Amino acid sequence: MFRADYHVHTEYSFDSEAPINAVIERAIALGLKEIAVTDHVDFDPRYYITDYNKYIPIIEALKEKYSDKINILTAVELGLESRMSDKLNKFMADFPFDFVIGSSHGVGMLDVYYDRTRLFEGRSKKEAYGIYFEELYKNILTCFGFNVYGHIDYISRYGMYDDNSVKYSEFGDYIDECLKALIDRGLGIEINTSGFRYGIEATYPSVDILKRYKELGGEILTCGSDSHRVEDVGDHIDYAYHLASESGFRYITVFRQRKPEFIGID
Ligand SMILES: [Zn+2]
Ligand SMILES: [Zn+2]
Repeated sequence: MFRADYHVHTEYSFDSEAPINAVIERAIALGLKEIAVTDHVDFDPRYYITDYNKYIPIIEALKEKYSDKINILTAVELGLESRMSDKLNKFMADFPFDFVIGSSHGVGMLDVYYDRTRLFEGRSKKEAYGIYFEELYKNILTCFGFNVYGHIDYISRYGMYDDNSVKYSEFGDYIDECLKALIDRGLGIEINTSGFRYGIEATYPSVDILKRYKELGGEILTCGSDSHRVEDVGDHIDYAYHLASESGFRYITVFRQRKPEFIGID
């Protein structure tokens, strides 16, 4: 049975202290066949950025060390923002990544987490989430070199409303526009299982969006825990594979030098 976690953070992310060796060994103990180490790079000055000239050789050495036990991907979770697309595109082109997650952590000048009061207060949910999806769409048009969009409904993690969820029935026009733009460009999305650790008992995105992605012709799909602690590596990955299958996907995507390959879901 093939299972892979395509979204994990380690001590090389500003918000994680998980020792990288322990993360990999946990993945091996769980029987995962692949792990994409997707430490953060966000060019917002409030985030600490790892020196990738030093980081890449560390990952490459681990890849070699564990090659008979697990396939490790040199990867990154890059915070996308259209206003910085030149810098981001250069970064993506400069390093030999196997896989790149592009994520929206910022909306214009506002960070969804750090600036959530300024982002949400005085705005209706429709208004604030609309701004988020408009920015996300712009990122898809201007940022090149990433493979899947991370937690496409990230805004719901930090919303300040009674119901923070992003439902297709409510935001379908925005979601269609973004999903179609991704599909047209040969890009995909991920099933991010961190919702189970953020108290929503569901994945990012929810199953209605996943089904819509499939309906529109989406095929490129990865599953990731978005773990920041060793014990969360592989969390709900099995569930994510089942959800993919239930949503009509027969294959999960793996990446080789940023090129998608498909493995049947069993
Ligand atoms: Zn993220
Ligand atoms: Zn992440």
